[in-house]
Amino acid sequence: MSGAELKARYEAAFMPNYGVPPLALARGEGSRVWDADGRAYLDLIAGIAVSSLGHAHPALVEAVSAQVATLAHTSNLFLHEPEVLLAERLRELLGGDGRLFLTNSGTEANECALKLAIKYGKVNGRSYFVAAENGFHGRSMGALSLTGKASIREPFGPYAIDVRFVPYGDADALKSAVTADCAAVFLEPTLGEAGVVPPPEGYFAAAREICDATGALFVADEIQSAIGRTGAWFAFEHENAKPDVLTLAKGLGGGLPIGACVAFGEHGGLFAKGDHGSTFGGNPVGAAAALAVLGTIEKDGLLAHAAEVGEVLAEGLGAVEHPLLAGVRGRGLWRAAVLTGPHAPAVEAAARGAGFLINAVAPDALRIAPPLILTADEARSFTDAFPAILDAARPEA
Ligand SMILES: *Cc1c(COP(=O)(O)O)cnc(C)c1O
Repeated sequence: MSGAELKARYEAAFMPNYGVPPLALARGEGSRVWDADGRAYLDLIAGIAVSSLGHAHPALVEAVSAQVATLAHTSNLFLHEPEVLLAERLRELLGGDGRLFLTNSGTEANECALKLAIKYGKVNGRSYFVAAENGFHGRSMGALSLTGKASIREPFGPYAIDVRFVPYGDADALKSAVTADCAAVFLEPTLGEAGVVPPPEGYFAAAREICDATGALFVADEIQSAIGRTGAWFAFEHENAKPDVLTLAKGLGGGLPIGACVAFGEHGGLFAKGDHGSTFGGNPVGAAAALAVLGTIEKDGLLAHAAEVGEVLAEGLGAVEHPLLAGVRGRGLWRAAVLTGPHAPAVEAAARGAGFLINAVAPDALRIAPPLILTADEARSFTDAFPAILDAARPEA
């Protein structure tokens, strides 16, 4: 089917919440994808920081194919080897500690963290939650209640829990907001959906200290930032600020849907039998995919690679002088090109025209979150093309 036909049929069959996406993708290989009309693109968004090994990576194809041919699903009535190996591997990466709950998505990982935090609050007589203005934690009602981005939160309120929002990156404001009555603080290490906005250095460590001082649970939402994205397994490692509860998803399964909520220390034992569950969460195929992702990142040295190629990307973009470009921010293979005005949709479209997929994550910011296997040459092919892309996107052009 052609892209045009797919778009028309999509529009008729789906709810209008996404609008009609600009491209129908048909296949991928490495960091490249092809649309339904056969045109190739360098994929610099990786399905929103998900396709960590790129597309059709042999390790992922083999692991998933073998697992689906052996046992695709058990439900939580039975356990299976891939989930045990995955939980053990994640614990190893997290210092040998932590107990897991596996999910199918990011928002479900945060639902689990929120239920843990609610239980923690009930047990300890703590009643409210703190999260960041402009933060994003997901679209299900619990995660949405923690989401600070007003445009997506407000239309669906009121919410059942008391969440107090603080300006992201302001440690003093956080300190004032967190009292002995606060059950938990939910924070991203860098705001992802708000436009890859890192906090001032030391903010995550300060949040850790504030939670230690008050007894609030420190919940790190690393759904977008973890599994190599910043050049480390987990972004909290950059500030040595290990949370009490950690949520993961996007890059973990390399494109297969799987997420995790990890609770450390005594918090790992907060749920009693029957407190939470999922029919599909941690299914054997997703778990096998995640094991292949973690194994490949380790075997191929993709943490160091992401840090290196991330620098190539940042330096290349930083060297571009253009009236539309204000700067570049972020870490590893998780960057935003910041624009001087609300030109991101036009630049995203111009990039697509030039054969590059990037994401207008905010009116004035373009998110770049490529597969961790992106090569330095591929990164340079984009930064070399970027001035002409910006030219093509100029309002007067
Ligand atoms: C994407 C994201 C979520 C939600 O994940 P879904 O899989 O879309 O439900 C939550 N938190 C953060 C930080 C995210 O980036």
